Amino acid sequence: MKAVRLEAVGGITLRDVDMPDIGADELLVRIEACGVCGTDRHLFHGEFPCTPPVTPGHEFSGTVEAIGKSVSGFAIGDRVTGDPNIACGRCARCHAGQVNLCSNLRAIGIHRDGGFAEYLALPQKQAFVLPAGLNPMHGAFCEPLGCCLHGVDLAGIKPGSSVVVLGGGVIGLLTVQLARLAGATTIILSTRQASRRALAEDLGATVTIDPTADVIDAIAGPAGLVPGGVDVVFECAGVRETVEQSMQLARAGGTVVIVGVTPQGMKVEFEPFDLLFRELKVLGSFLNPYTHRRAAELIASGAIEIDRLISRQVSLEQVPAVIANPPVPGEVKVLVVPGRG
Ligand code: NAP
Ligand code: ZN
Repeated sequence: MKAVRLEAVGGITLRDVDMPDIGADELLVRIEACGVCGTDRHLFHGEFPCTPPVTPGHEFSGTVEAIGKSVSGFAIGDRVTGDPNIACGRCARCHAGQVNLCSNLRAIGIHRDGGFAEYLALPQKQAFVLPAGLNPMHGAFCEPLGCCLHGVDLAGIKPGSSVVVLGGGVIGLLTVQLARLAGATTIILSTRQASRRALAEDLGATVTIDPTADVIDAIAGPAGLVPGGVDVVFECAGVRETVEQSMQLARAGGTVVIVGVTPQGMKVEFEPFDLLFRELKVLGSFLNPYTHRRAAELIASGAIEIDRLISRQVSLEQVPAVIANPPVPGEVKVLVVPGRG
């Protein structure tokens, strides 16, 4: 079969490889779609630890073509989505129910072969059935949506809450939609590209802001959209500027959720006095603990707009160039479709 192999930092190529051998508790999944994520580019550039050679791709969905002898609850022909993050189940954090903080966490597409291939071996405990009639392209969005769901769960949005989302990539645009479903009535998205601001307004943002203006003043200033700041801020850009803004945009007693991944070692400035005096809650949101099934149900229900987040579909042959190059301006999500080309 064909698979995209990350062979070393800076070395990625399409190869003919053996079909995966499935274990007794694994499914052989024919990949129908797999999303390209910023993490795939970080792996290529050596900015995220992994152990090449490996097939990247952790946002996948496909159809079951074979099942191991201990598998139950899945049948050949099922359409499935996979949670790529495999917790050990044995460590102190797993025992406390914090599987995303597992000290032995291994991810499909990072530590073992992922979805930029024709087939993948998926442990049954990581698999979730999708409706047979679902557009297979939509299944690939369960993983990023699950990460956004965890952030929204942590935020404690209530009906009528005011929310700011900083960064209008796929994570910000999914978070806007979840904030709306959670009952927020003011949803402000800040992102630099005008096309994404227009899209966010179609997806449920009540206002969008160009961050080249003074974001703090425009949102939380005395004459701003929500004087004094909003109930919840989601940082979904992963840059110093937005992390610093996030704490200034929350109201006294408000919540900041850091979803964006900043470069390791990067420092930001904030005023501890301000955190204390205004009793801000600043929370990290990491991965998708126990949210993948809800993400799959949300996607299956059609409650989340997906089609407008898909910028282009590419073949396996195109993946090395897509990953080795920065995203094209305006692009939200690139989907790899192995059956193409
Ligand atoms: P992305 O496409 O890079 O989106 C981030 C966007 O933020 C950028 O495209 C950019 O859009 C915008 N941005 C940059 N500087 C900005 C500024 N000063 N003010 C406002 N917006 C700004 O990435 P993504 O896939 O949506 O992911 C977003 C972040 O979440 C990444 O850091 C990713 O690594 C992280 N992530 C975290 C988790 C988790 O579990 N916590 C899971 C998945 C992803 P414009 O050009 O329009 O400004
Ligand atoms: Zn563990």
